[in-house]
Amino acid sequence: MLTNDQLARWDRENFFHPSTHLAQHARGETPTRVIRTAKGVYIEDRDGRQMLDAFAGLYCVNVGYGRPEIADAIADQARELAYYHAYVGHGTEASITLAQMVMERAPKGMSKVYFGLSGSDANETNIKLIWYYNNILNRPEKKKIISRWRGYHGSGVMTGSLTGLSGFHNKFDLPRAPILHTEAPYYFRRPEGIDTEEAFTAHCVAELEALIEREGADTIAAFIGEPVLGTGGIVPPPAGYWDAIQKVLAKHDVLLVADEVVTGFGRLGTMFGSDHYGMKPDLITIAKGLTSAYAPLSGSIVGDKMWKVLEQGTDENGPIGHGWTYSAHPIGAAAGVANLKLIDSLGLVENAGKTGAYLNRAMKAVLGDHPNVGDIRGEGMLCAVEFVEDRDSRRFFDASAKTGPQIAAALASEGVIGRAMPQGDILGFAPPLCLSEAEADLIVA
Ligand code: PLP
Repeated sequence: MLTNDQLARWDRENFFHPSTHLAQHARGETPTRVIRTAKGVYIEDRDGRQMLDAFAGLYCVNVGYGRPEIADAIADQARELAYYHAYVGHGTEASITLAQMVMERAPKGMSKVYFGLSGSDANETNIKLIWYYNNILNRPEKKKIISRWRGYHGSGVMTGSLTGLSGFHNKFDLPRAPILHTEAPYYFRRPEGIDTEEAFTAHCVAELEALIEREGADTIAAFIGEPVLGTGGIVPPPAGYWDAIQKVLAKHDVLLVADEVVTGFGRLGTMFGSDHYGMKPDLITIAKGLTSAYAPLSGSIVGDKMWKVLEQGTDENGPIGHGWTYSAHPIGAAAGVANLKLIDSLGLVENAGKTGAYLNRAMKAVLGDHPNVGDIRGEGMLCAVEFVEDRDSRRFFDASAKTGPQIAAALASEGVIGRAMPQGDILGFAPPLCLSEAEADLIVA
């Protein structure tokens, strides 16, 4: 067997890791962490050290680790038919079944699902479909897309630009022109003088409306948002937010994209976050929970209104020129079918609501009065603790202290993985949806 030292050397010499300080890692200043196996909510490294993974990988292993039902489905599919493409009407039993299962679960008013590989490529698909739609409708100027500061929508060229976190823009020269950003619905960090959630919702809506009017509604194609901001700090919206935003979008004929990469398939205690907040999107982005990350697969669910125009477009122009080699990959699709069956049979949507509420209550009971805890917030199986130097003024710790990452590291040394969210001193929790109350107690303890 390879030694840990050998693996660490090969890692430093060869492996370009995502979202990593490259120079420090190559110099061996940050450790190589080799995970060997996992079961339920626990992962285990090569030395046999177990950790409770309270972030489900990257909030994606929703059914928990080590499910033989999904492993078997993947192996059976690989033996039977590892690959065939999905172009010009081709499919497999797995991909067609998964499309049926996704659409049975999707919110009302949705028509079809396009399968990709990652949340980023699904949002790239969405951007192209939005532009195509307005071209078919003869509105060549209506192309700009509004996202929110602190939104996370991927790391591609356009989706990195949609992402409203500066760390993902830094030094990349991403195209800015067709992408605009508006206020994050982040009540804890609201402007001075706003003291109720309703007033803050009115402020966010006024900001959006002002932006649309400034740019001209005939140039604004779509608005994209996560039902609950995820990577931007796990921030549920203030009261009435989505209803009020949707009124503005309807008034200006602007499409709504619900990015449900994190919230899709149960995380908020409903099948989709759109169900939870009464959103009526034109496009829904799905990924992570679609397969619980047992294999890469994503999707763009297209609403009825857009679908009719896409059909019209191909009648006028021929086949749609968009596709990946791995669209609807049979192994991903087989994993997805087995995963969605497990979510149902184990009652994981219900458990996410129930045990997620328990986790949030327990976190507030234990940490709610701590002088350096400014906010504890969450929804379903999402929870965040935001640390402050001073509770009354909500003053931040000096950024150079890296308080969030230090707290996450201290927690990891106690055997629990939370995530230091990329902007601010925020510790995020997004455990597998199968979390038990006893495991929630362990996280909080
Ligand atoms: N959209 C949201 C809301 C996400 O949280 C993520 C990833 O975390 C993405 C899109 C991008 O997904 P991927 O990392 O699979 O490209």
